[in-house]
Amino acid sequence: MRLTSRDGARDPPSANKAMATKTKTGKVFLVGAGPGDLGLVTLRAKECIEQADVIVYDHLASPEILGWARDDAEMIHAGKRAGEHSLSQQEINALLVEKAREGKQIVRLKGGDPFVFGRGAEEAKAAVDAGIEFEIVPGITSAIAGPAYAGIPVTHRAENSHVTFFTGHEDPAKTESAIDYAALAKLGGTQVMLMGVERLEPITKEMLKQGVREDLPVALVRWATTGRQETLTGTLRDIAGRAVDRGFEAPAVAVFGKVVALRESLNWYEKRPLSGKRIVVTRSRKQASALSGKLRALGAHVFELPTIRIEPPTDLREFAELVQDAHTYDWIVFTSANGVEAFFEIFFKLYDDAREIGGPRIAAIGPATAQRVKDFHLHVDLQPDEFIAEAVVREFQKQGGVENLRVLLVRAEKARDVLPKQLSALGAIVDEAFAYRTAPETRDITGARRHLLEERADLITFTSSSTVENFLALGLPWPKGMQVASIGPITSKTARDHGLKIDIEARSHDIDGLVQAIRDFFER
Ligand code: SAH
Repeated sequence: MRLTSRDGARDPPSANKAMATKTKTGKVFLVGAGPGDLGLVTLRAKECIEQADVIVYDHLASPEILGWARDDAEMIHAGKRAGEHSLSQQEINALLVEKAREGKQIVRLKGGDPFVFGRGAEEAKAAVDAGIEFEIVPGITSAIAGPAYAGIPVTHRAENSHVTFFTGHEDPAKTESAIDYAALAKLGGTQVMLMGVERLEPITKEMLKQGVREDLPVALVRWATTGRQETLTGTLRDIAGRAVDRGFEAPAVAVFGKVVALRESLNWYEKRPLSGKRIVVTRSRKQASALSGKLRALGAHVFELPTIRIEPPTDLREFAELVQDAHTYDWIVFTSANGVEAFFEIFFKLYDDAREIGGPRIAAIGPATAQRVKDFHLHVDLQPDEFIAEAVVREFQKQGGVENLRVLLVRAEKARDVLPKQLSALGAIVDEAFAYRTAPETRDITGARRHLLEERADLITFTSSSTVENFLALGLPWPKGMQVASIGPITSKTARDHGLKIDIEARSHDIDGLVQAIRDFFER
């Protein structure tokens, strides 16, 4: 993935650019990114992001979305961020048109829904005026999702029959304010305000002045649908003061109306086991999603901070030759899901018939590795209960040993060499196939490192020794009070050797075991 700063270098002019403009027509997709929760992004939005040549995005509640982009997609940050000035609306419009004229597919990603207080209309108009094709991908707006995740239905048969969205962007004291507070007061129903939490005081004052009852329930939901969601409730009379006391800042939606009281019984999101817990996931981006997803489902706010990246092995040719000869072995031993994937990627490039794998038996260390083998419709003959190399050796002994048997060990470069040594010691003829290597992840596409420094974290998870080593190699200051969870004794030992204290160690050395241990720890 290429990162281009707003005012940074643009694409080098391509030789056949003129031709490209003639033959390829660009298109602008105005895409709603939803309110924050990754699960609240539409399928169409994900599809567009995966295919885009260029992504122009604002500050997003869930930067992980950008991880779906193609590796070579151009990423342009257009929104406000501390210390940076943002692109003006005119500059954004011009950028979309310029990129589309280069024949590119541009995704303009916007929080919530692009047409709800999102200035999407202006960008669509710019495309129309330039004769450029466009598509709107609606998103789930924070105006609906925010209240829902706070346990507030915006309508209820017994309470109201209409909902109003309005912006608190303007100062109601200004004579030119476009919002008619007198009409709003008369209208009643549920009223949802986007933007303007910092102007709550003049806004609520104006509502009271227009005759709205002072005990009207009000809720403020900030960072709605993310792991940082917080809700503050009160009445029209006291909510502004309470927000100041609590330092309740944007982004927040405000809900005014009787439906707010239903939260008492319907609050659900903030009651999950890991609600409010901020957890760092250090696996490679491709592998992170299983762990992150499970933690998020329990309510955690997850920072994906990949420290390693899976790369092809240094000697791909040698690996391919071993894969080609796989059928000549008695055993194939896989030590990781990555190894399984790398193996079969090459295998099916070499052969178009699964039977070419022949008769070797298959061993897999760990349930994720075994699952990956089963995904290819192959039986796993040996899967040790304990997911560490020493246990595999024990299992082989139990199965009658490996003396004089040919074993192909599919593994990462620079992995621990306990397994090949011990198998050789038992008389096996071991060939090691280096399927991939892990490289330090040096990019910070989603800004997770910056987030970690700006905000705190409660817990960091390590799922292998290399995640420990690579995280520490980043040299980031350790956030105060951040505790450590490890997937098993080997990872824990590496962490301790580096001076870390282990607070949580999974009893079952896999992702589910780690998630369970984290849950038990916080529930205690
Ligand atoms: N198009 C967006 C709104 C953009 S205006 C949408 O449909 O949601 C920006 C305002 O949206 C913020 O000031 C805040 O009021 C609201 N907002 C966006 N995301 C939010 C979130 N996750 N939690 C609370 N408010 C949010």
